[in-house]
Amino acid sequence: MFTLFPKNDPAQALRIRRLLIGAWSYVMWMALIVYCHYQGFIRLTAELTAATFAFFLLIQALFYVFMRSGANKRLNDPSMTLVQMMVAAVGAMIVIYFTDVVRGIMLLGYIVTILFGVFRFSIRQYIVFTVFSMASYSLVILLLLNNHPQNINLKIELLQWVVLAVVMIWFSVFGAYISGLRQRYSMANRELKAALNTINELAIHDDLTKAYNRRHLFEEIQRQKALADRGRTFFSIALLDLDHFKKANDTYGHLKGDDILKHLIQAVKHEIREVDCLARYGGEEFIIVMNNTDIKEAEECAERVKKTVEKLKFPGFPDSFGITVSIGIAAYQRNESIEQLISRADDALYHAKSAGRNQVVTGYPEGT
Ligand code: GH3
Ligand code: MG
Ligand code: MG
Repeated sequence: MFTLFPKNDPAQALRIRRLLIGAWSYVMWMALIVYCHYQGFIRLTAELTAATFAFFLLIQALFYVFMRSGANKRLNDPSMTLVQMMVAAVGAMIVIYFTDVVRGIMLLGYIVTILFGVFRFSIRQYIVFTVFSMASYSLVILLLLNNHPQNINLKIELLQWVVLAVVMIWFSVFGAYISGLRQRYSMANRELKAALNTINELAIHDDLTKAYNRRHLFEEIQRQKALADRGRTFFSIALLDLDHFKKANDTYGHLKGDDILKHLIQAVKHEIREVDCLARYGGEEFIIVMNNTDIKEAEECAERVKKTVEKLKFPGFPDSFGITVSIGIAAYQRNESIEQLISRADDALYHAKSAGRNQVVTGYPEGT
């Protein structure tokens, strides 16, 4: 269904909201002009006034169609601030041309109108807009001198021209300052978001191996358990323990032992799916949580991991060096506790160790 603002594009919705505020300010101007008309402040027939404003509202409608279609997104400045401001400036200058005694106060209205967009301008846009404004006011003065010389006091008009120029320059300086603030603010915001992301990453990962940490592991199992208890999904876990790792530590030193862990976990990561959760359970023990995986698939995955580790070469170690893992697997049984599940995997791991290591053993639920 058609909506006035795009639903899933906040930036675009904001642009369109600003456009509609612009349209609303045209209507306010119209009310002001109608008042001036009845007071005899303006040299414009009611019909011409209405036609002029209808024309500007039509332009605003065209802007709306253009933006709502998304065509503006291909422009350098998708907010189209400068173009909209220039159209508004032309409208305001027409009014200024047709008002005589109240021309000064209309210039004030002009300044209020430009406030609408001036703080969003880039330096280049400020310059373009200032030159455009001053040129159009000069043109208004020249046209007045030519067409209605009796209605214009050149001295006052020139003073107004200078004041407008000063105000525009002042806006440029102040606007540039505000733009700078906005930029710094959004940069700080982006940096903060990046820092928060890093902190979140650090909070759930293990420093050494970059696998998930124990806290995240339990959260993940809890989540999988909650889903499985509702009958939506099922999952299995694999508990890995490095074989004779103490010996590797004793032979090569603890730091080299750390390198083994890091390298090994990288290799294991490649063997599991993106959606699986590989976490450090403790020391040199790791758990893989595999969602939507039954015991048979878990066994295949564990076998794959086992074989990969078996063949793995470790940089900085002799070619003859290798390590193996023992793996205990268990499929979650609905409504069992997390401790029960891990304990079944742990028992299976124990069996794998005592059966000679470098193997995968399944921990079946009691009574099966
Ligand atoms: P098994 O085959 O029975 O598992 O023999 P194992 O030598 O691996 O014995 P166990 O699992 O009991 O020993 C774990 C060893 O892993 C002891 C400990 O020094 C070492 N270890 C635990 N965490 C780290 C670590 O972060 N870095 C290093 N380098 N070693 C660790
Ligand atoms: Mg161990
Ligand atoms: Mg071990």
